[in-house]
Amino acid sequence: MRQSSVVPDSKLPGVGTTIFTVMSKLAADCGAINLSQGFPDFQAEPSLFEATWRAMREGRNQYPPMAGVPELRSAIGDKVAESYAAEYDMDSEITVTAGATQAIFTAIAAFVRSGDEVIVFEPVYDSYVPAIETVGGRAMYASLRFPDYRPDWAQVRALLSPRSRMIIVNSPHNPTGSVLAAEDLDRLAELTRGTGIVVLADEVYEHIVFDGVRHQSMAGHPELAARSIVVSSFGKTYHITGWKIGYVLAAADLMAEFRKVHQFNVFTVNTPCQLGIAEYMRDASRHLGLAAFYEAKREFFRRQLLNSRFELLDCRGTYFQLARFRAIADLPDREFAHWLTREVGVAAIPLSAFYHDGRDDRVLRFCFAKQEATLAAAGERLRSI
Ligand code: PMP
Ligand code: GLN
Repeated sequence: MRQSSVVPDSKLPGVGTTIFTVMSKLAADCGAINLSQGFPDFQAEPSLFEATWRAMREGRNQYPPMAGVPELRSAIGDKVAESYAAEYDMDSEITVTAGATQAIFTAIAAFVRSGDEVIVFEPVYDSYVPAIETVGGRAMYASLRFPDYRPDWAQVRALLSPRSRMIIVNSPHNPTGSVLAAEDLDRLAELTRGTGIVVLADEVYEHIVFDGVRHQSMAGHPELAARSIVVSSFGKTYHITGWKIGYVLAAADLMAEFRKVHQFNVFTVNTPCQLGIAEYMRDASRHLGLAAFYEAKREFFRRQLLNSRFELLDCRGTYFQLARFRAIADLPDREFAHWLTREVGVAAIPLSAFYHDGRDDRVLRFCFAKQEATLAAAGERLRSI
């Protein structure tokens, strides 16, 4: 191995390899069923691929406009108007991004200055805090309370200070599957009223909300929409996590700042995939049917674990199911997850990976975006311990 003569003083000394990479690699090395990293093990519909291939053959292979192809921004605008009765102008208020991860990083880089405070909710999706710290910001931790993972707005109020620049919310929530209610949005609006705080809303699971509940988007709350950067991802909605395409909605003045960074961060996102998605998403049944599709998988997976010693927590949205394992082992969750992968042949994500202080309630996250045969095989193994 080559050694550099430059010894870097790490900007992120506490950051190792993301838990998703660690667990997926362990699963592959052990030949385990991988219910850790969140991605489907089934294909998207062929018509999506055909539309993309057609765009390639028609020569749509050069740089698209910086904000994304007009066909896609227009389709996004129509979908958002129908879903949340919210009007976003496709020229100045919608930008296509290289997945939600880039959108989140770019939004943080565009608004957070050195020394600014950003409130996040723990357990927290693992890309937020490194992004905040890369630009010199400071994460302030509010908690989603175990075991129902509801926000505590009084605690958020206590964390607010003149240095508060941003609050990051994620609903439906990864890793817990909890969702924000309309009252939560009202509380957030009340807390941020009269401040310059930007709300960064990670809504990548917007179409995966169960039990007939409606997703509460910041886009559909006029007061919050005015201060929000709303992020979504086609990876989750159309079963194409590897395409890494998402989008951002924001009022024109916020979006202008976002685009100042976006244009030098990625500039733009590959053209034919944007065109393929633009055509495919015109059929609204594709995103409207997603909740029922995943609700059936949630039910199937929960039934698999009924006669096991895992204790299931509520799952109101996303494609993740949490389960406590205290009746099986008193190991720390990371150790238990490694043991489960190696010895039982099922990989899952330990929840302590989403806490800055390593808090461990002995809970694992299982991804149920899988074919029934995969879930059934995993269920058989999980019932055996
Ligand atoms: N936010 C959350 C809550 C996620 O779960 C994910 C990915 N699963 C992302 C952001 C990143 O999405 P993308 O793959 O589009 O970058
Ligand atoms: N968001 C996916 C998950 O929660 C993983 C994405 C990634 O690997 N970075 O499992």
